[in-house]
Amino acid sequence: MRLFVRLVAATFFGLILISCGGKKEKKEGFSYEKKEVKPRDASDPNSIILTSNDAMQFNKKEIKVKAGAKVTLTLKHVGKMDKSVMGHNFVLLKQGVDLVAFGNKAATKKETDYIPSGTDDIIAHTKLIGGGETAVIEFDAPAKGVYDFLCSFPGHYALMKGKFIVE
Ligand code: ZN
Repeated sequence: MRLFVRLVAATFFGLILISCGGKKEKKEGFSYEKKEVKPRDASDPNSIILTSNDAMQFNKKEIKVKAGAKVTLTLKHVGKMDKSVMGHNFVLLKQGVDLVAFGNKAATKKETDYIPSGTDDIIAHTKLIGGGETAVIEFDAPAKGVYDFLCSFPGHYALMKGKFIVE
């Protein structure tokens, strides 16, 4: 038991070190503040790692999480291109929001990194990142059901979209 506690503590501090290292940008307002950092356990079904690349693709077309728990989503950009030309984000839409209509509206919002300000269409989103960058957000899983997610960088939703399924 003691060893377990130590391991958890070690993981915890390791995560803090990692998350502090090289982070220059201010934490984005929309992403929920972390009150506690849970170890990123591979067995946690709500700990999602989504990668994106220079070929305008996510590595997943479908994300499944469990209802009634927090979701930790890590978006990695494994490409090399700058966010001004190949920026990616993860945007989770509320049910009933039309993905194409949202994507077209968001594409005009360059000044806010392609997130319409004051929008009521979004459950959660990451900041916009470029090659080599990572963004992590934590949010409460919405009610059971199927939701759309996309990258809202102009034109990307044609390829960069998928289903977010809460079970
Ligand atoms: Zn993108």
